[in-house]
Amino acid sequence: MIELADSHAHLQEPQFAADLDAVLLAARRAGVTAVVVPGVDATTSQRAAVLAERYEGVFAAAGFHPHEAARLTPAGLQQVGRLLDQPKVVAVGEIGLDFYRMRSPREDQERAGGRDPRRPGADLSPRRFPSRHRR
Ligand SMILES: [Zn+2]
Repeated sequence: MIELADSHAHLQEPQFAADLDAVLLAARRAGVTAVVVPGVDATTSQRAAVLAERYEGVFAAAGFHPHEAARLTPAGLQQVGRLLDQPKVVAVGEIGLDFYRMRSPREDQERAGGRDPRRPGADLSPRRFPSRHRR
């Protein structure tokens, strides 16, 4: 069987709370051996890290989605930075820019994703790859 990786599944969202074990089992049976759960803010990044610790084959990304960028606080940034030190938190994300929906001001989106567009998330962790949202 071909091994697959799902690089972006928000499994920490409440919709999965009741049947997460069944969802992950179905994914494994379909050949998905790794799933990355991205956060959209500090709270959901923490939940993603908890799932990564709890389940084999589940990994987390920690960051601020562009829609949530206006709510970024120094404390939240520190919390996400600490999560990025955990071995199963493998990426910075979900970060990026969304100038189509513009739910956060451009400056906040750029601040949340890192100011250098060639190295998104580098301000958060130069050791992790970015998981990018772009619209
Ligand atoms: Zn997403």
